[in-house]
Amino acid sequence: MSYGITPIVIVGGGTAGWMAAAALARVLGKRATVRLVESEDIGTVGVGEATVPHIKAFNNLLGINEADFVMRTQGTFKLGIQFNDWTRPGDSYIHGFGTMGHDLGLTPFHQFWIKGRLAGLAADLHDYSVNTVAATRGKFLPAPTDVPASNPLGGMAYAYHFDASLYARYLREFSEARGVQRTEGKVRNVELHPESGHVAAIVMDDGERIEGTLFIDCSGFRGLLIEGALQSGYEDWSQWLPCDRALAVPCAKVAEPTPYTRSTARPAGWQWRIPLQHRTGNGYVYCSRYISDDEAAATLLANLDGPALGDPRPLRFVTGMRKKAWNKNVVALGLASGFMEPLESTSIHMIQAGISKLLQLFPADGVMDPLLIDRYNAQTRFESERIRDFLVLHYHATERADSPFWDYCRTMAIPASLQENIDLFRQSGRFFRNGDEMFGVVSWVQVMIGQGILPAGYDPLADQLPDEELPKFLASIRDVVSRNVDLLPTHQQFIDRECRAPTVAV
Ligand SMILES: Cc1cc2nc3c(=O)[nH]c(=O)nc-3n(C[C@H](O)[C@H](O)[C@H](O)COP(=O)(O)OP(=O)(O)OC[C@H]3O[C@@H](n4cnc5c(N)ncnc54)[C@H](O)[C@@H]3O)c2cc1C
Repeated sequence: MSYGITPIVIVGGGTAGWMAAAALARVLGKRATVRLVESEDIGTVGVGEATVPHIKAFNNLLGINEADFVMRTQGTFKLGIQFNDWTRPGDSYIHGFGTMGHDLGLTPFHQFWIKGRLAGLAADLHDYSVNTVAATRGKFLPAPTDVPASNPLGGMAYAYHFDASLYARYLREFSEARGVQRTEGKVRNVELHPESGHVAAIVMDDGERIEGTLFIDCSGFRGLLIEGALQSGYEDWSQWLPCDRALAVPCAKVAEPTPYTRSTARPAGWQWRIPLQHRTGNGYVYCSRYISDDEAAATLLANLDGPALGDPRPLRFVTGMRKKAWNKNVVALGLASGFMEPLESTSIHMIQAGISKLLQLFPADGVMDPLLIDRYNAQTRFESERIRDFLVLHYHATERADSPFWDYCRTMAIPASLQENIDLFRQSGRFFRNGDEMFGVVSWVQVMIGQGILPAGYDPLADQLPDEELPKFLASIRDVVSRNVDLLPTHQQFIDRECRAPTVAV
């Protein structure tokens, strides 16, 4: 077997295109030639600045030095996401990465917490996670590897915030240094093979014809190959995730960056805040049925930490997924493959997951085996639907009744798969991760409880701990978490020490 696919043509040079180029160059090396075309005139979507911890595996695959990466992308560290006003105005909780409390045998920690909460013995769930406590105290240190398993610092996990355009530039340098050939220009036409219907070549504005055996469509929302040429179809999920527009605007940084992303619910959607070293990214994701663009812009601009650095930039989208992300000899990645709003920063992760699957199911000798294609598409559907359910949970499990948008979300019919998870959790706090879905038990539990779903009972396995020991168990975890977080440097101190970016005019 060989990779005998030459060249692999990537259409698009946004985050998706350059992530794909970097990974292919690194993994396939000289066994394949990789060519990427992009158009500066068309540009990139230019947002996508908050990530999840899985990105560290991608950086490790590339062999990237973390300090260099953070410095070059004006990056900061992310311990989780703070959700403000989602359950009701004034309410706040954090979805922290990493572990929570201390599991005993088969029983996850949150079961002991529920038992304690029902008996009036437990503090906020937040107090038992080193990530959420460190986030609110503005502390950060990468999880030390030399602590005993019982030390909560060992359970810390983190991701990054970074400047999207600097990230693409960083990956471009990485890829070009490893032989990826870049072509600037617009794709004018896509030629299909008359018999197989496969993409045979793309034709550029200047007439150049670029042939390939495998094409990776990273052309953004337009899906130039996957939809424009192959008409793969799109499954619309906007009945569950009705937001369809966003306005993005950076503002001046006015304080030390928080080690978390902030998401604040608004009357017709929600607003993000992503702190970087040189500026802060902001955006309002909203539903155009319930608010005008002008009102959304006014709301966004009235809720910035510092002066806006430009006018809000509009973006439109339809939440959903491409029916076939791999069709014939085209694999779509990034926005070309579908879109879910950035509520849990899942899009860049989905690009990474797509690249991993493609490498694991790589069409050897250029043969587009339906077995590979079907498996890729089935896995993509599974991953997308699980994320969809997790996002819908945030909107649906709310007490908010202060606007028509929230009335819709609170009362809408939700996917049966999500309803089952909510029902089981509400009854006994039980949750089971479905296969290798992206978000695990600790994430689901934090969001369910954060959104006000308090279980009526608990798993009887939690009775393994005698009743009289429960208060001591809970108090000791809380105390150990708090004392360990006290020892950490602040987020800013860590950045100054390890990866301070050059000061730039923004
Ligand atoms: C409002 C919003 C906020 C987001 N926030 C996050 C976040 O916090 N975290 C996260 O993980 N993700 C986020 N995302 C998603 C993230 O931005 C994207 O997944 C990521 O940027 C990948 O985009 P892309 O590369 O697929 O597309 P794009 O950035 O749109 O790139 C498309 C590329 O295709 C090229 N192209 C298109 N047509 C042609 C043509 N005819 N000829 C030549 N080249 C062409 C363009 O020049 C460009 O290089 C967000 C998305 C939106 C809309």
